[in-house]
Amino acid sequence: MAELRRDPYADRWTLFASERANRPRDAARSPATPTTPKEDCPFCRGSEEKTPPEIDRIGGADDRPSWRVRVVANKFPAVSVDALTEGGGSLFGFMAGGGRHEVIVDSFDHHRGLADLPDDHSVQVLSMLQRRVRALFEISSVRAVSPFKNHGAPAGASIEHSHLQVIATPALPANLAIERRIAERYYCENGHSLAEETGRWELGQGTRIVEAGDSGALVYCPFASRFPYQTTIAPWPPQNSFAVSPPEAIAAAGAAFARSLRRIKNLLGDPPLNAFFHIETRPEAAESPSAHCWRIEIIPRLTVLAGLELGSGMHIHEALPERAAESLRAADARNPS
Ligand SMILES: [Zn+2]
Repeated sequence: MAELRRDPYADRWTLFASERANRPRDAARSPATPTTPKEDCPFCRGSEEKTPPEIDRIGGADDRPSWRVRVVANKFPAVSVDALTEGGGSLFGFMAGGGRHEVIVDSFDHHRGLADLPDDHSVQVLSMLQRRVRALFEISSVRAVSPFKNHGAPAGASIEHSHLQVIATPALPANLAIERRIAERYYCENGHSLAEETGRWELGQGTRIVEAGDSGALVYCPFASRFPYQTTIAPWPPQNSFAVSPPEAIAAAGAAFARSLRRIKNLLGDPPLNAFFHIETRPEAAESPSAHCWRIEIIPRLTVLAGLELGSGMHIHEALPERAAESLRAADARNPS
């Protein structure tokens, strides 16, 4: 039976239409991780001179390309670093400059992404992301930092070598603004965070849980998942500010992120996917900093967005998160040797 479910983080509905599961469709798809060598890849070890100057790195001496994680400015930035100028009015406002667009090359190997590297590598990647988020919030014009991953060309990756992107903007993106408002209101009315309530409720129900928080991270397929196999990873108990979360929380979420990517890869045959880091906007700008908690969302791209999604904002698909979580729990998440 078709069912509408509400996502409390964004006050948004998803329509689960299970009868549509048997529709004919073209299932052919190639794995998103590159399998053939790429001669001129700027993100491979030994090609460091092909990227803009390095901003930060983990591992490797300056003169020896043995780094593990590397950060560079985006060669084709979506936002400019010039001084912020803004104008217009509240209705047709505009902004230019005042941002940053960085790339975290999160793998040193062209043929291995975070799913193919040991968990401790993802932990280093998240530590680096935390360093960059701290640095970006030092820039006075930055109001929001949006870290994300595009894996595979259908998910928007223009370079196939595994990487994350971080865009810092002087404007607050719409989804983050909505989530911030809802989180503030929930905290004021209830005295605890929406993330805590959601985590407790999911643990109580159990059916959508992939990892129950024993490792320090909670992994689940959200009740109103907008996409099939959508997976949330959050430190447990919840953490407010990503920028100042303790190393244990970063480590737990980083390892759970790697395991989740591995489960999806092994279960679904390495589909294209996106990941988005819902971190805090400027912490001091929040009325109640305790209202806001960070989480990582993985969105496998198994469906295309069509008229209903783009027009109404209501997503439609047939994959109930209870079934997705059951399959993901059974999928192989073991560390690669
Ligand atoms: Zn490469």
